[in-house]
Amino acid sequence: MTRRGRFAPTPSGLMHIGNAFTALASWLQMRQAGGEFVLRIEDIDIARSRPEYAEKLQDDLLWFGIDWDEGPRIVGSCAPYEQSLRQHLYREALDTLHSAGRLYPCYCSRSELASIGNAPHGLASEGAAYHGGCRSLSPEERQARAAKKTPALRFIMPTHAIGFHDVLAGPHTYAGDALSDFVVKRADGMFSYQLAVTVDDAAMGITDVLRGADLLDSTPRQLALYEALGLKAPSFAHVPLLVDASGQRLSKRDKALTLASLRDTGVTPERLVGAFAYLAGWTDRPEPLTARELIPCFGLIRTAADGLTTDQVQRLLAVG
Ligand code: GLU
Repeated sequence: MTRRGRFAPTPSGLMHIGNAFTALASWLQMRQAGGEFVLRIEDIDIARSRPEYAEKLQDDLLWFGIDWDEGPRIVGSCAPYEQSLRQHLYREALDTLHSAGRLYPCYCSRSELASIGNAPHGLASEGAAYHGGCRSLSPEERQARAAKKTPALRFIMPTHAIGFHDVLAGPHTYAGDALSDFVVKRADGMFSYQLAVTVDDAAMGITDVLRGADLLDSTPRQLALYEALGLKAPSFAHVPLLVDASGQRLSKRDKALTLASLRDTGVTPERLVGAFAYLAGWTDRPEPLTARELIPCFGLIRTAADGLTTDQVQRLLAVG
């Protein structure tokens, strides 16, 4: 079976070196394995996404030396590759979950729901436990609330523990009561990241999900969805995030570390690839090389967890 990996950026800003590192690792994994690499644009959250950023992301990837076998600008059997155009699939998945009795309407107020946003990252979207209040509403209570408010839809988590072996981070087990029911469709009609990413990875035949470590805690929720939808789950690898001197992950608002700004200061893609390869422990020296030249040196499980800091990258590139 051909292995398939993907890079799934949200076009909410310019691509920074943190995104570039994750994209490179996923691309290298597939190129080394002779697999296929898919680019998917996760623009489901229209308030956060912009088409011009989706275009720039693609230009930046190509500049960096990363190509894709399927995705925007390339015809593939899983098209379209923009989540905003795939909503019928998320609707079908909700129908399946509904028929299986795994959804319930949630009428909690906006401020309560603010802690369960659509952004895949950040504590708010993953950490906040839902008290489960709306799960036990009687039909009469539901009817009364429905008259006043459009509900969000929540997915009922299984009560059993969920475990998986992360290719990089090792074994992880989440107790049945550690994860609360989460929103799969917001009151404003938007499908959640967790639902869309699961449906798409399955529909696109992704066998190897490689992404940033900040999404590790999303994995048990997605595994619960795979199970409930009767879909085969991929393997997961969560690579270390590039962090700044204070240990914070990069934000798309940090303009100095975008690929575009580095390119403008004369940094070549080869120097950036070389710096990443050295800091991740894939090569012994920070010598410039193309992404393609790095393929034989890449070793996912050798990826160093420390040392991947923006300061180090800037020092090696002699910028900043
Ligand atoms: N769209 C997510 C992001 O921009 C990535 C989702 C994933 O890789 O599962 O970070």
